[in-house]
Amino acid sequence: TEKLLFESEKLTAVGQLAASIAHEIRNPLTTIKGFLQLIKNSNGETKEEYYSILSDEVTRIELITGELLVLAKPQAQDFQQVNIGKMLEDVITLFSPQALMQHVEIHCEIPEIPFVNCIENQLKQAIINVVKNAIESMPQGGNIHIKVKAMDGSVHIMVRDQGCGIPKEFLDKIGSPFYTTKEKGTGLGMMTTLKIVQTHNGTLEIASKSNQGTTVKITLPIS
Ligand code: ADP
Ligand code: MG
Repeated sequence: TEKLLFESEKLTAVGQLAASIAHEIRNPLTTIKGFLQLIKNSNGETKEEYYSILSDEVTRIELITGELLVLAKPQAQDFQQVNIGKMLEDVITLFSPQALMQHVEIHCEIPEIPFVNCIENQLKQAIINVVKNAIESMPQGGNIHIKVKAMDGSVHIMVRDQGCGIPKEFLDKIGSPFYTTKEKGTGLGMMTTLKIVQTHNGTLEIASKSNQGTTVKITLPIS
């Protein structure tokens, strides 16, 4: 089992982030431009094919900008006392269609947990990103265990999957903008989650073993 505690260093390089965002958006834009040109002189089946490529690329830009917007408006929301158990139940409900389709069962263990002071929408998004990764790590299906524990003035939220795991040498890449191993991934989910956890003065740890699974643990101060 390998552990990693994220440093804040990764996110301070605003310029680097801006450059990689520009790059990630320019790529699909270049493709779109090229295919728009081609569509002009094509017909029938070819046109259909080009449209579908265009549509995929537009969707990709939409995904990227959508994920970045989560980070763009943190000041708009306030910290509130939130029932974290209810929040987790909402997240599980949200994923139930996808989980069903992928033969993933989500098990949840939430004891009596104190309310957590957080920006509700943000924390929910952070957990959504983690659960989504857990589901995606098990294309053949499996179990996800979500566990919440309160201890020493902190609340620990653990999401454990039985998926592909993360090879040791790639652990410290997780959370870097646009780092993804998925064909249709954005590589923004963990960066967003990490940023949100930091906004909440929390920590994020990953324990993972190739082909056995991953546990993501988010720790937040209670008060
Ligand atoms: P994306 O999901 O779009 O690829 P993320 O930032 O959410 O972007 O995740 C980055 C990468 O971290 C993933 O592509 C995957 O390689 C790895 N990863 C994250 N969570 C898990 C997990 N639970 N199991 C296996 N790999 C994971
Ligand atoms: Mg993801």
